[in-house]
Amino acid sequence: MATTTKAGAKPAAKSKTGKMEDSEFHEFFVDELKDIYWAEKHLLKALPKMKKAATSTELAAAFHKHTEETNTHIATLEKVFELLDEKPQAKKCDAMEGLLKEADGIIEDTDAGTMIRDAGLILAAQKVEHYEIATYGTLRVFAQTMGHNDVAELLQITLDNEKATDVALTTVAESFINEQAAAE
Ligand code: FE
Ligand code: FE
Repeated sequence: MATTTKAGAKPAAKSKTGKMEDSEFHEFFVDELKDIYWAEKHLLKALPKMKKAATSTELAAAFHKHTEETNTHIATLEKVFELLDEKPQAKKCDAMEGLLKEADGIIEDTDAGTMIRDAGLILAAQKVEHYEIATYGTLRVFAQTMGHNDVAELLQITLDNEKATDVALTTVAESFINEQAAAE
């Protein structure tokens, strides 16, 4: 038999009107959308810097491509806010701020023109992609749970792109960067 385990054993959250849009979970969902919206905007500013710092043209090209894709992720989130009848507001994401600080640190700690620099930049970028994959994966499930299938579909498209970016970065790393970094 199925059991529900809910700490605190509060009755199922229902709003005064009983509408999903007014529920606490919906509010929480929108808040998390604002968080990833801030994260994507912050990343959009950081990617050109990472591109400039890259040693290889391959990695620079990967960062360039993902800058354009990140622009699309931002536009997609704006569409999501619109579908939910919410204002697109950015709410500071501490995690993305930290991840991008780490990327800055890697640039400071490595010499320009080296493959160790690129190996480090890929590490930083993949941490960012995995953060985005975790976020979009969970938010997509939230959207589905609440019956926002149109929103879920949009979040899935971005999720697929983040996953593809992660794979592309691994391919660049394994093609020659890691090997050359090890020889430096
Ligand atoms: Fe993104
Ligand atoms: Fe991304």
